[in-house]
Formats: sequence, structure tokens, C-alpha cells
Amino acid sequence: MTERASEPQHHRSGTSRAVAARADRKDRFTGRPQVRPTAEGWKQPMGTDGRPTLQFAQKPRVKQPPMHLADMTMAERQEKMKELGLPAFRAKQISVHYFTHHTTDPEKMSDLPKDRKQEIVETFFPPLLTEVKRLVTDDGRTIKFLWRLFDGALVESVLMRYPKRITLCISSQCGCGMNCPFCATGQNGLTRNMSTAEILDQIVQANRIITEGALGGTRHEGPDAERVNNIVFMGMGEPLANYKRVMNAVHRMVADQPEGLGMSARGITVSTVGLVPAIRKLADEGVPFTFALSLHAPDDELRDDLIPVNSRWKVDEALDAAREYYDKTGRRVSIEYALIKDMNDHPWRADLLADKLNARGRGWVHVNPIPLNPTPGSIWTSSTRQATNEFIDRLEAKGIPTTLRDTRGKEIDGACGQLAAAND
Ligand code: SF4
Repeated sequence: MTERASEPQHHRSGTSRAVAARADRKDRFTGRPQVRPTAEGWKQPMGTDGRPTLQFAQKPRVKQPPMHLADMTMAERQEKMKELGLPAFRAKQISVHYFTHHTTDPEKMSDLPKDRKQEIVETFFPPLLTEVKRLVTDDGRTIKFLWRLFDGALVESVLMRYPKRITLCISSQCGCGMNCPFCATGQNGLTRNMSTAEILDQIVQANRIITEGALGGTRHEGPDAERVNNIVFMGMGEPLANYKRVMNAVHRMVADQPEGLGMSARGITVSTVGLVPAIRKLADEGVPFTFALSLHAPDDELRDDLIPVNSRWKVDEALDAAREYYDKTGRRVSIEYALIKDMNDHPWRADLLADKLNARGRGWVHVNPIPLNPTPGSIWTSSTRQATNEFIDRLEAKGIPTTLRDTRGKEIDGACGQLAAAND
């Protein structure tokens, strides 16, 4: 991610002529305008076939972040301690410092031998995330962080307080190879996958910041102290393109303390733009997290352009894989659908979506339409209230459980669907 990624990523200047040009195509059923998805203010990388490029693996020979305690299982931490000539129980002690007290400061580790403390900390806690910028909004209820990683790469996470939970939106990759036209994250492709520890450290840092009182509240210490209890992968990256490290991180989020963070799996949402082979693997992880498919269009004609990975795996294949996830886990799947004016909000699309979901059975899925912020002059703008209501009514009329999100003023950036889940 570039620094710019911490700012709204789509640009709005000079768009009105382009909008007019694109909007004069008419929807084939209703005669309503059909706006085609296209990047605004930046150039979407295209392949020789004229399609947006897709990148599934990180660039070769990219330097990996140093090994950190959060990359290791408890057994591996104990092994490492033994290598240092220290007893295995020290592994548990430093795990408590990190996962329970959210500290890597040797001064706060009074239970470690004084003469070895520095060495232990240097071995297990190489610095992973350095805070570059902090943006506080919503009367202190939302904090957006920009972090610099060991190699200079920048990623962000967003911490949000809701009446009954604290949500953290995290990044899983530096850059992204999925090249969605509404999200400039993809314009430089994928630089590298984040490590398991880099993914987890976003949560540990957020917990530390809550403990320091930066998100308000009063319960900062003790057994009922407030912590992040809701995780969505809505930051940079497509989580399932970094499958192994993301799943290791999820396993460590739910592992009991001090092996991991001791979080409830039900507060974790793993979402994807539709990497079908990876969706098929998810069910075997044995962790009851929520799975969300960021669909945003029920027809391949539109989705091929809106979510370029659709040229690899079509709508029906993604929905079949989502249904399989439900069959194997019994966990209801979320379908994320950002409502974009005159692009994907036509009533027939609501009908088609409902029909495709119902064709795969009842009770296995619910749809979360995501209202966007109004962005005058951009093609990436919110549906009218009337179009939104009709879309929802049509889904509900066909028996599809539907929840309109309260998106706390979000824009489409990062609307890979993680966005919606953040506001569950
Ligand atoms: S919307 Fe999500 S999947 Fe698409 S390019 Fe952006 S980060 Fe990647």
C-alpha cells in the first residue's frame, strides 16, 4: 500500500464526462442507465488479453519479515527457549506478556531473569509494526492506523467502537493482486503476503491502544477489560490469496491464552472476492468463523468487470463453493453486496440474486447490502434510497434474509465485503 491508501483511494476529479459516456448504456430490462465499472483517476493494469491482470502469488525473492513469537506454536516457542539455554516455562511467561498484557517492553517483564531479558525480547519480539499515522474520527469511536512494516511497506487497520463490541479491520497483504476497479490498492499489484505475526500484531497493538484508553471506555484493566472482539479482513489484500498465514493467524486468534488471543471464532469474519479453490479448503479448518462472499453482482457480464477474479471463477462456481461451506460447517454464509448507483442496483439483479441463492436451497445464506457514501461526480456512488429499498424488498419477497448495513460513512474502498462485515 502507498501512503495514499490511508486516504480515500478513488479519485473523483474529471469524472462527469466519463460518467455521462458510460451511463448512456441502458439496462437491458428496465431501460435504466447501466454504468459500467471502470477505475477513476488511476490506470487499472491490463493484460495482453485486454482484461485486468490478476496476481495470485507474491513477487519472487521478496524479503520476509523476521520470525516473531506470534509466528510460533507454544511448542516452537519452548523449543526456541531451550535453544537459548533457558527453561521451557519461559515461553509461557513471554506469551502472557504479549497475548494477555500486549507488551513487548522488557521493563514490564519483571518475571524474566534480568541478565537475559534483552536477549529474550530481541529473539521473540523483532519490531513488526511501526505506527506512522493515527486518524481519529466519530468522536473518538473510530481510529484508523497506518503502519510501516519492517521493509517499509505500509498497511492500515481500523479500530471501531460499537455499543456491544469493538471491531478491528485488518490487512492481510501488502498490495493486492485482485485489481478491482474501485480500489486503488490493486494498482501496483501484490508486493508480498503479510506474515502470521504481522497480521496478529495489528490486533495486539489495537488491544494495547484500548488499554491505554485511546478508544475511550473505562474498563482498561482486569479480567473484564475491553478488547477487540470482532475481526474483519477488510484492510489491504485478499485474505484467501494468503491462505496459509491468514489461517494460522485465525487459529492463533481463537487459541486459548497464552498460546493465542483467546477470541471467540464467531466474532471473526473471513471474506473473499471469490477464490473458489480456497473457499473449498476453508470448511476443513474446523474453526466456526463467519464466511463472507463479496459478490456485488449476480451476473457474470457485470461481475467480470466489477470483480476481475470473476473471469477465473464465475458467479455460479463461487455460490456453489459457498453453499458447500454451509453444508460442511452448518455456518450461514454472508453475501456482501455494495449497492452502487445504476451499476448493480437494478431490480432484476435483486431477483436474479435471490433466484440463484434459492436454487441452492433455503436457510443457508443471508445478504448484506452495503450502502455507500454519496460521492457526487463519481460512478462509485450510493444507490438512491428508493433503489435500495426496492432491492431489499425484492430479495425479501423471495424469502432471502437481508440486512442493510450501518456502514458508519464508509466508501467503496475496501468494499471487498470485509467492509460490510465490520458493521455486523
Ligand atoms: S477490493 Fe479487496 S480484493 Fe479488490 S483490489 Fe481492493 S483489497 Fe484487493
